[in-house]
Amino acid sequence: MVSGVPGGRLGPVRQVPALARTEVSAGGVDVVEHPLRAPGPEDVELTITLCGLCGADIVIYRADPAFDWVRPGTVLGQEAVGVVSAAGLLVPDWPSPGTRVVPLAMTGCGHCQACLTEHPENCPQRSVLGLSRHGAAAGRMVVSWQSLLPVPDSLPDTTAVLTEPTSIAWRAASVVGNTGPGDKVAVSTTRAVGLIAALIAQSRGADVVMVGREGPQHESRRRLVERLGLRATTSLAPDSIDVWIEATGSGKRLATAVDALRPGGRLVLVALYATGEQESVRMLPGKKLTVLTSYSSNRADYEAALEFLATMPRLGDELVSVYPMSRAVEALRDAAEGTAAGGDILFKAVLQPNG
Ligand SMILES: [Zn+2]
Repeated sequence: MVSGVPGGRLGPVRQVPALARTEVSAGGVDVVEHPLRAPGPEDVELTITLCGLCGADIVIYRADPAFDWVRPGTVLGQEAVGVVSAAGLLVPDWPSPGTRVVPLAMTGCGHCQACLTEHPENCPQRSVLGLSRHGAAAGRMVVSWQSLLPVPDSLPDTTAVLTEPTSIAWRAASVVGNTGPGDKVAVSTTRAVGLIAALIAQSRGADVVMVGREGPQHESRRRLVERLGLRATTSLAPDSIDVWIEATGSGKRLATAVDALRPGGRLVLVALYATGEQESVRMLPGKKLTVLTSYSSNRADYEAALEFLATMPRLGDELVSVYPMSRAVEALRDAAEGTAAGGDILFKAVLQPNG
């Protein structure tokens, strides 16, 4: 039996529990028994400790047409921390069994110009966990050893699982947004990526404020934001902001950002827009805004993310809600709604596939 992984090899097949797309329709996900292929010579098998649920998983859960091409049977999950439990014959001394690692979500062929310049997102043969190949929301997974990064001992699993969203936040706030001292930065977000981007901008010396909607969730968000040493507001004066990091994907929030940015300011989009707001797009040229888009992240962003997280090793305690595999579908529903049981705001739902 073949595992179904593109390029997969024949081998003895074991079944592992996994959260997978079962059909291309809203709510078409479930915990299934997934056939795990044997590691090839350059592969390792990871036992997944924790796997965060992200925007792509939510798009699949909602069956947004953007990811209609993701085949039923595909295991979800891009954000994992795990332990090497088996290694192929050609895997070097590192990573040996027992090593705690984070896998890159996006990998390329490793040979083309895009890959050689560390831009696998431009590789024609790129593949992404949980979309074009099986993801990490499973008891075990098989990946190339070259896609792994070591996790510092000082980082608990609940914070290490934030490496992927932190790498996205790092690229948005640092590489693309270039935030720094003297910048007034606003961040709109409902999820961990935006919150971490705010922390990164602040650590780079920017004056940062989190912008949220009025409402019952604003209070619980405000308390969390303040515990993390950030400020929160529900409104900003027009033309008062230098850099806006927009991480909600809401057309309304985009319009607010365009209004609050000063002429010549920088708008960093780190979300996908299902619904556009034509009015805000019309205003962009008049205000001479620099519109920057930030998409995906590479190994350098992951390394920066792990370094940043090492400065806040308890961050996971604030942002992460852990669900056992038996509640995986509920975790995905909560993540889609941004609300945990009891109505509390949910920044990052995380699965414990072996829990
Ligand atoms: Zn390539």
